[in-house]
Amino acid sequence: MSDCLFCKIAEGAIPSNKVYEDEQIVCFHDIEPQAPVHVLIVPKKHIKSLDELTSDDAELISHIMLKIKDIAAELGLEGGYRTVINTGDDAFQTVKHLHFHILGKRKLTWPPG
Ligand code: 5GP
Ligand code: ZN
Repeated sequence: MSDCLFCKIAEGAIPSNKVYEDEQIVCFHDIEPQAPVHVLIVPKKHIKSLDELTSDDAELISHIMLKIKDIAAELGLEGGYRTVINTGDDAFQTVKHLHFHILGKRKLTWPPG
């Protein structure tokens, strides 16, 4: 999607601090971290939110879920981490391209309000 921030980051058109990439997903540090470690996993396919998933996305979502532990281990989060998916305006989803937050090394007061 041409005007989507996370599509542009996934394509490399907008720079990011990447921690992982493969043919289906990219993972990069959040620009405004809400914990000492805060990264986002983003599918390269433009999907607006969980609300737009179809059964065609089953393999992609499975791939993301199975990669989370590997990325967390790579980031040194052996002590644990939160995985957050915000969906829609009431959840304060600000970027309308599906993304999985991974937050670690504590500070569990997010999100505010
Ligand atoms: P949401 O509130 O939609 O679940 O989360 C969007 C996240 O994207 C926020 O945590 C925000 O800090 C992050 N974000 C917004 N713009 C950028 C950007 O240009 N680069 C990076 N790396 N993160 C961004
Ligand atoms: Zn997009």
